[in-house]
Amino acid sequence: MKILVTGGAGFIGSAVVRQAIAAGHEVVNLDALTYAACLDNVASVAESPRYAFEQADIRDRAALDRIFALHAPDAVMHLAAESHVDRSIDGPGDFIETNVTGTFNMLEAARKFWVAVGKPAHFRFHHISTDEVYGSLPADKSVMFTEETAYDPRSPYSASKASSDHLVRAWHETYGLPVVLTNCSNNYGPFHFPEKLIPVVILNALAGKALPIYGDGSNIRDWLYVEDHADALLLVLQKGENGRSYNVGGENERTNLELVETLCAILDDKRPRGDGASYKEQITFVTDRPGHDARYAIDPSRIREELGWRPSVTVEEGLAKTVQWYLDNEDWWRALQSRKGVGERLGTGK
Ligand code: NAD
Repeated sequence: MKILVTGGAGFIGSAVVRQAIAAGHEVVNLDALTYAACLDNVASVAESPRYAFEQADIRDRAALDRIFALHAPDAVMHLAAESHVDRSIDGPGDFIETNVTGTFNMLEAARKFWVAVGKPAHFRFHHISTDEVYGSLPADKSVMFTEETAYDPRSPYSASKASSDHLVRAWHETYGLPVVLTNCSNNYGPFHFPEKLIPVVILNALAGKALPIYGDGSNIRDWLYVEDHADALLLVLQKGENGRSYNVGGENERTNLELVETLCAILDDKRPRGDGASYKEQITFVTDRPGHDARYAIDPSRIREELGWRPSVTVEEGLAKTVQWYLDNEDWWRALQSRKGVGERLGTGK
């Protein structure tokens, strides 16, 4: 299959590109190379004859039409987005332009191409989204997000992603474009940009800096290893039912404080502090983010029962692999840390 992956130089998109190439697919990686991108993330596959890169912006409709006509993909996996919640609070405009208007452009370019090539039944537009569109759950663990949960986004980021999800469903209902959607919980793993919570904790710990936690650390998130997410995405693309949504989650609910303490314990084991104390001593509680959702939790029954997907690692295994990856790849994260704007925020976002 020839797959047009948008955002393939980012965190999750690059995992999709690496796995799709490993599975024998052809990949066209379309990415604008914003501050969040890093082509090193796909260096391991860049020499493959089945890999091509197109630097393009999804806000540029003419560029999208050219790329669809040139590469004639069998499927689209649309991941390109502004993805950092804290940045969406500081500057929501880019989130509306890329996540809403950019997705509209992708849908229109895909529809034009799909009609031009005779509306093949196998064509798929796979829209990759977040569980944050469902809003916030009570902390008492009585309910989880299912595919039927009503949308209730609360941040500029989640509102922009919710808008894009609605556009994708509308293009399916109105124009018959074959689509699948996925909404996933928090990802972590190798190549995670060094301003997101888990890399910030690892790198601040190693640098002897404070480990910032919003509020009292009781916010609950469900964590999924990025390679398991990429695996789920490729499965949904190939086996998912046209027009259907699938929630993807790790069934690994942790409070932010539990998560940071687990990371500290792994670091204590792998790279003990010089003074013999635990990295937990560096934990610092900071003023909460505005509109900070209490809990997100995904019920992944549909993808498990209909498509047979399960995560391959527990959160403890995944976090240990992630910490080891950051210890082994200092050149990668040091280069990104020096980019403008990185590190100016607390970096405790998703
Ligand atoms: P990321 O920020 O690491 O990567 C985004 C990529 O999109 C970057 O390579 C960037 O250059 C590219 N991009 C941004 N604006 C663009 C534009 N206008 N045109 C072309 N390319 C552009 O993001 P991520 O964490 O890998 O997330 C990827 C997708 O998955 C997003 O749609 C996000 O909403 C969704 N998602 C993320 C998570 C998570 O935990 N990170 C969870 C669920 C869903």
